[in-house]
Amino acid sequence: MSKQITFILEPDNGKFTAEVSGLSTHVLSALKSDLGSSQQVNCGKPSRAGQTELSQCKKTAQDDSQTIWLYQIYHGSVVDGPGRRSVIQVAGCSIRCPGCYVPETHDRTNGRLVSVSSIIEEIIANRYKHDGVTILGGEPFDQPGSVAELVFRLKRLGIHIVIYSGNTMRTLADRRDTSIHYIITHVDLLIDGPFINQLAGNAGEYRGSQNQRLIFDSQDRTKAPLTSAI
Ligand code: SF4
Repeated sequence: MSKQITFILEPDNGKFTAEVSGLSTHVLSALKSDLGSSQQVNCGKPSRAGQTELSQCKKTAQDDSQTIWLYQIYHGSVVDGPGRRSVIQVAGCSIRCPGCYVPETHDRTNGRLVSVSSIIEEIIANRYKHDGVTILGGEPFDQPGSVAELVFRLKRLGIHIVIYSGNTMRTLADRRDTSIHYIITHVDLLIDGPFINQLAGNAGEYRGSQNQRLIFDSQDRTKAPLTSAI
């Protein structure tokens, strides 16, 4: 396993983050003693810092017939995609990977049914805190119609979107669902595949296990196109 330390300093708020992988126990201990507490990340594992109470999203839930099962929204993540992300974590996952970091999101009733409009309001209100939005779960593609609506409204605002799925691109394509097709052809980055505990080491940027892939928008010629990843 290769050793890696990435230091991230956010100039607008002075927040400092060190992301590490493959380090020995004594190096990790030395880092913790210098920098403070640590937590597991990747595979959509949320940073709890700056998370927003769901109740703030609920206030406009009646304003819109388009609803989605939401676990939480949090801001300022630097591990769920490029730059600083606002993260929409949906509730409900039918995939149930062994060793999943976020089992609390599996049952959708652990979240709340909220309007898509209330989520958009929250994202707009916190726009200064992010360079883009990440949608993860739970499993976003368990709610394709609602997530497609979310993607449509975010894209209308010109927002960069990352989405995670425990499904592979092939599985998603085989469902032949128009909402799924809309999502995978409009997001900027899809991170696909289930979390596999045995492959968790040295998984790479933004990923929880080595099998997961970063699949980019075909408009970005420097990256693997979405359509060739099926
Ligand atoms: S798809 Fe994601 S949320 Fe669902 S079980 Fe797998 S790792 Fe957990």
